[in-house]
Amino acid sequence: MAVAQVVGRRIRIQGTVQGVGFRPWVYRTAHLAGVTGRVRNDSAGVVIEAFGDDRALGAFADALQFPPPAARILAVDESVIDAEPLADFKIVESTPAAERRVSIPPDLAICDDCVREIFDPGNRRYRYPFTNCTNCGPRFTIANDIPYDRAATTMAAFAMCPACRREYDDPADRRFHAQPNACPVCGPRVTLHLSDGSPVLGGDAIALAATALREGRIVAVKGIGGFHLACDATNGDALLRLRTRKRRDEKPFAVMVKDLAAASAIAFVDDIARTLLTSVERPIVLLAKREGTLLAPSVAPGNRMVGVFLPYSPLHHLLLADAGRALVMTSANLSDEPIAFRNDEALDRLGGIADFFLLHDREIETRCDDSVAALIADRATVVRRSRGYVPRAVALRHEVSHPVLACGALLKNTFCLAAGSNAWLGPHIGDLENLETYDSYTAAIERMQRFLQIRPEVIAHDLHPVYLSSVYARSRPEAIRIPVQHHHAHVVSAMAEHGIEGPVIGIAYDGTGLGPDGTAWGGEILVATARDFRRAATFRPLRLLGGDKAIREPWRLALALVVDAFGGTLPANIREWFPAVSRHEFTAACQLLAGGFAMPLAHGVGRYFDAFGALFLGRRRASFEGQVALEWNQAADPAVARAYPVQMHDTAGLIHIDLRMALRQALVEREEDENVGAIAAAFHNTLAYATAVAVRRIAREVGRLPVVASGGCFQNARLAESVRAALSPEHEVFLHGDVPPGDGGIALGQAVIANAKLEGRT
Ligand code: ZN
Ligand code: ZN
Ligand code: FE
Repeated sequence: MAVAQVVGRRIRIQGTVQGVGFRPWVYRTAHLAGVTGRVRNDSAGVVIEAFGDDRALGAFADALQFPPPAARILAVDESVIDAEPLADFKIVESTPAAERRVSIPPDLAICDDCVREIFDPGNRRYRYPFTNCTNCGPRFTIANDIPYDRAATTMAAFAMCPACRREYDDPADRRFHAQPNACPVCGPRVTLHLSDGSPVLGGDAIALAATALREGRIVAVKGIGGFHLACDATNGDALLRLRTRKRRDEKPFAVMVKDLAAASAIAFVDDIARTLLTSVERPIVLLAKREGTLLAPSVAPGNRMVGVFLPYSPLHHLLLADAGRALVMTSANLSDEPIAFRNDEALDRLGGIADFFLLHDREIETRCDDSVAALIADRATVVRRSRGYVPRAVALRHEVSHPVLACGALLKNTFCLAAGSNAWLGPHIGDLENLETYDSYTAAIERMQRFLQIRPEVIAHDLHPVYLSSVYARSRPEAIRIPVQHHHAHVVSAMAEHGIEGPVIGIAYDGTGLGPDGTAWGGEILVATARDFRRAATFRPLRLLGGDKAIREPWRLALALVVDAFGGTLPANIREWFPAVSRHEFTAACQLLAGGFAMPLAHGVGRYFDAFGALFLGRRRASFEGQVALEWNQAADPAVARAYPVQMHDTAGLIHIDLRMALRQALVEREEDENVGAIAAAFHNTLAYATAVAVRRIAREVGRLPVVASGGCFQNARLAESVRAALSPEHEVFLHGDVPPGDGGIALGQAVIANAKLEGRT
């Protein structure tokens, strides 16, 4: 019998394959398959050179189909190479230069093996809150330099004990090169403190913190990307204290529960939600709330949804197990400030909010808020992309010829760095409206530039000159600065996410963004390429009665809309429609309208949500941005399919979508005592229908192009789904998935546009 011939294969794997236990896994897989050779990291991912007979190589290739949970394979490329007579399979160290740009992975939620260990009384890591392995643990948030290596993380301060060192050095061990590897003997420790910083001595800090939580206290808990403020989610009094101290009236809080069963007890969890809840990114998932559960109503007042997430660090698991109930875990900050992430800073800023502090001595290097995902059109849509996702790259269709920094917009800011064929969105920064947030923004940009070794040559920024992100852009030394229109950036962010070349018909619906004509745009349909766009449709503008105040007090938008819909005159019974508004305020607003003063105009679809919501739900003011729009969305009765009539005017090639007739019809229905849920549903259907009509008209001119939908309004599942349904089957509608539809994704579009403009590419 002939000896089977040894052949060689080179397998290049691209994607998130570094810092996620990939090489040790390849090593073990090769051993099992009886393959010799080597594996190493390179600048694009991982390269394997494997030698064996056809059967062994076949078995090896099959096993490679099932990588470790945190790995994301984007491409596999195989070629034949000469066989080498090797005795074994090796992990080859890579040079620092080879690892640049792909070296720092996102933070990974604790894996099942590590969870088992911390709950196993016989294990040396029993109840150890910093347990991790190559499949799990902090990464991005503890890194302070490249390459990603223990010495360049905040774990450098801890010398491994012999037992940990053995694991770290053994390629067959789950902790081989697990950079944050630690144990109770050598690793970080957790301590409990009073609000004045004095330590609570004696006892198990986590068990004590859990007791305090059960007693209704508020505990600041240091996590992976920053601090949480925790309290018992079933205790209304505790929640009231938290809301008062945090100065957060009604904005919903996220709830952490110990497992999927506990999640299903408070919310409806389907297959997509289950996958998302247990993913390594471990985002907060917005789910439909169950009625009549133990959850206090004040967790998410007046909201049909609740943000739920599962423990993602060993500390969370222990805390949830000891507390024995759902916990509110909300970002630890005062309203509008960045999340606290250092011990002294937390004690300083949160002393007036938290009764206790559960601290530890592993420093967080980069703050990173929890990510948030929603279920839209049967898939996961990331609406806040931060911990777990950052700094994973978005693969670009076209290589970027000049490295770009895109500065993002104003609210829910993120920035983006692009070089080569990748773009990296930075962590969620928040609303760039104060000095603290601005400082955290500039620091995060500098850190990401260093991690990715990118020196931008081009700065992209929003057209709005007053946004702090634009102010920052002007302060940069780079000579090339490219302003980008807000809605064009939204559209191109969706094109980039889906690798669509363009031209497209791009729907960009949001609250506001400056147009090149100097007015506030916000409900736009563009015909766009990466370089250019033409405005093809917009909404009839609403008058911002009282200027920016109208956004906080959407009844003002409603009043302006009613007056507009009735041809400038006030309907006789108009006062009845604004019961929550004082007579004085109402009269003053009417006088302002009648006076014919110039008022800023808003075209935003979000503003129509605000106006209709304020009118039909009787809301006077919003306690957070988009609150009334959200309530209006949630009021919609899913069973109602009818729509109101819409008018469209075409002036000089620009379609104006006019909802005045729809408003009049809705008011008639209300007079006839139609329920609000049906009116809200018809409103959503009307928007979808109007959008579809406008898109079809545009398509008659420009052809049946792919349609992308972006902008904050597409976080609204009902709107997204009905727009898509209204355009099927003639148009494929691309919705966001991994890149947020709102302003948290806009920087990606800015980066791509800047480069396309520079290259003169269409
Ligand atoms: Zn693990
Ligand atoms: Zn140790
Ligand atoms: Fe926007």
